[in-house]
Amino acid sequence: MKRNYPPVWLSALILAILLLWRILGAPITSQQFSDLDTPFWQARILLPSRINRVLILWMPATIQEPTPQTLMDESMDADDRELARFTDITDDQATLMVYLAQESKLVEMTLEGYVCGVLAAEMPAAYHQDALKAQAVAARTRAIYQLQSGGCSEHEGADICTNSSHCQGYATLTECHSMWGNEYEMYKERVTSAVSATVDELLTYNDQLIMVMYHAMSGGTTEAAQTVFSSSVPYLVSVSSSGEESARGFYTDSTFTFGEAAELLAKQFPTFGITADTVQQSLLIGEYTPTGRIRNMLLGGHEILATDFRKALGLRSTWFSLSTDSASITFHQRGYGHGVGMSQVGANIMAANGSTYREILAHYYSGTVIEKQ
Ligand SMILES: [Zn+2]
Repeated sequence: MKRNYPPVWLSALILAILLLWRILGAPITSQQFSDLDTPFWQARILLPSRINRVLILWMPATIQEPTPQTLMDESMDADDRELARFTDITDDQATLMVYLAQESKLVEMTLEGYVCGVLAAEMPAAYHQDALKAQAVAARTRAIYQLQSGGCSEHEGADICTNSSHCQGYATLTECHSMWGNEYEMYKERVTSAVSATVDELLTYNDQLIMVMYHAMSGGTTEAAQTVFSSSVPYLVSVSSSGEESARGFYTDSTFTFGEAAELLAKQFPTFGITADTVQQSLLIGEYTPTGRIRNMLLGGHEILATDFRKALGLRSTWFSLSTDSASITFHQRGYGHGVGMSQVGANIMAANGSTYREILAHYYSGTVIEKQ
């Protein structure tokens, strides 16, 4: 009787796989498996990823140990070691002194490692890759611009801080883990590849680094810098940001009882004498900006900036109308953020429609070019 052997190609394939397995230094004997200093379930997670991860996992001797000042080593697992190529401080890498508000301490980190953390904090990692790349260039430019302009004004010795309402947001690895959960690997890959694809790239205008501003969602048109920050900036002008209407949160309503509104406003403007009984009558909208946002308002007879009013009530934007009933005020808001510079939702829509990150940045920052550091 004729015996059935497996086909030659199958045998060759199995041999090739075994050979590759061995070349990679992967464990074969039970002793080699038990010598692994990484739990095998982690290896299983990493296997579908790139070969360098496999190499890193199974050849720990080749890993450069991070220096003690490196932020990333603090919570570094084997699955975070890919980040080491950004985060290890070496002679040829630019570094920043970052005040880590989450841990109230000053740490030195590489510029590119820092940009990864900013990207994770400031833009949803599920956004299109070209939107992420645009954000990476914006975040890097902002950091270097600030470093060159004297650093963070609140924390001595810091080039920049991680307080998003002061300098620029930054997510630590621990925060990334809790934010992304089971999707951690996938999102980390998206963030690091956007940073990697734009490494050293900065935005300039007339050969000078630009002052980068960005926000979550413009509401359809971005705002010129001069109407929000009172000084005109040639590359921060109002541009259209079409397609945002379909984004979630384009319109939002926030309702406050008279008592709640009065309490919040009195905290921000304590001398105005605002109470639950007077808040409805004491509130008047003043001027509008050319885009339709509110520029200033009258509160209890005092002229105030709409941006300060927005801050007091925690509104999403100054692009709003208001309505009242017998007991409450409702703000009908459009967009999210100050509206100056790049709209992140707009960038995501442009990327979805095929624009590259260069086109996105050129759209939101008029007249700028990307230069390698
Ligand atoms: Zn700061």
